[in-house]
Amino acid sequence: MIDLHCHIDLYPEPHLVAQECANRGIYVLSLTNTPSAWTGTSQIGSGKPRIRTAVGLHPQLAHERYRELPLLLQLLRETKYVGEVGIDGSPDLRQHVETQREVFAAILKGCAGAGGKVLSVHSRRAATEVLDLVAANPGAGKVVLHWYSGSARDLRRAVAMDCWFSVGPAMLSSDKGRALAAAMPPDRVLTESDGPFAQVNGRSVMPWDVGRAESELAEIWGVTHAAAAAQILTNFRVLVAD
Ligand code: MN
Repeated sequence: MIDLHCHIDLYPEPHLVAQECANRGIYVLSLTNTPSAWTGTSQIGSGKPRIRTAVGLHPQLAHERYRELPLLLQLLRETKYVGEVGIDGSPDLRQHVETQREVFAAILKGCAGAGGKVLSVHSRRAATEVLDLVAANPGAGKVVLHWYSGSARDLRRAVAMDCWFSVGPAMLSSDKGRALAAAMPPDRVLTESDGPFAQVNGRSVMPWDVGRAESELAEIWGVTHAAAAAQILTNFRVLVAD
């Protein structure tokens, strides 16, 4: 199983979650919301080769943490994975969108300068702006839109721009989320938990709950669960290959 977007450091018992992932053989992209969390979060995955740590600066924190941007750019030497980054255009964050845009653009430029990275990108209520910045900063690498919730039109644009997508049980529990997932090319789809933030049935989604997303995708694609899981694993190998 693949969990391409997990905030493993934010579970109450991150080391137990990491150990359980290792026991189950799950590939996890462990994100950070601030560059200063890098050291502690990368330790959680140390000695567990299937857990990789990404350096990020979450758009919801960009206005408070933009001073950590130089640290993020420096940490690009340490990892080929970047996230969580992006733009959040929700009403309560609209006032900070210019700061978010500056931070995200600088990160995209840094990724391009470093030869390209794999990026897990947040685009809530800002899909158009995110795609505009990705288009304006070529060479940043492979962009994975996590929990995409924008318009069908922007989704077609993202596909044309060769973006990837990660979808999880929470997204796939809504009709809108399933319709968007159905419009994504199956060879560009990965699974994610977005735990512990994402919840299903009143509890945090765990990395091993991505099996439920595999089941939903199998139904959407009209294939068996095993075939869907195999497709996602193939996608993952293409995504992380150099
Ligand atoms: Mn997230």
